[in-house]
Amino acid sequence: MAGNITFTMIKPDAVRANNIGPILSMITEAGFRIKAMKFTHLNETTAGGFYAVHKERPFYGELVEFMSSGPIVAAILEKDNAVADFRELIGATNPAEAAEGTIRKKFATSIGENAVHGSDSDENAIIEGDYFFSNLEKF
Ligand code: ATP
Ligand code: MG
Repeated sequence: MAGNITFTMIKPDAVRANNIGPILSMITEAGFRIKAMKFTHLNETTAGGFYAVHKERPFYGELVEFMSSGPIVAAILEKDNAVADFRELIGATNPAEAAEGTIRKKFATSIGENAVHGSDSDENAIIEGDYFFSNLEKF
């Protein structure tokens, strides 16, 4: 059975563009409940640790630099079928390929600066949520 938890970040590009409000609005209107949330600023170590699975990819250095370039909003979201439904709401990694009505279609500017993160599996949703939040911060 699909899990009911996913993890998201509103990335530095979307925070800089003042799009926290509109993005959170799209998320909650799509039926996701906020279970945990914080405004924080990753550094190279914490961004690198989060994206360690991509360490061998050619864009890793650029990704870590971008993700530590400004504050982000991190959140755990709850909904039935959370991971798949949230990937559908955010759209394709490359905004040029993202479907109409998705968050990335609306707010992302490039494949690197693509406004939001969404977990890719139930297992990673738990790992990623635990990277940012203690049990005292989840409700
Ligand atoms: P995310 O994990 O952030 O939700 P995703 O699952 O759609 O995105 P991944 O393949 O996991 O995509 O890549 C992680 C992130 O790395 C992307 O969101 C993007 O910011 C960056 N990225 C991916 N591919 C490229 C690329 N070819 N060039 C530059 N950056 C890239
Ligand atoms: Mg991913």
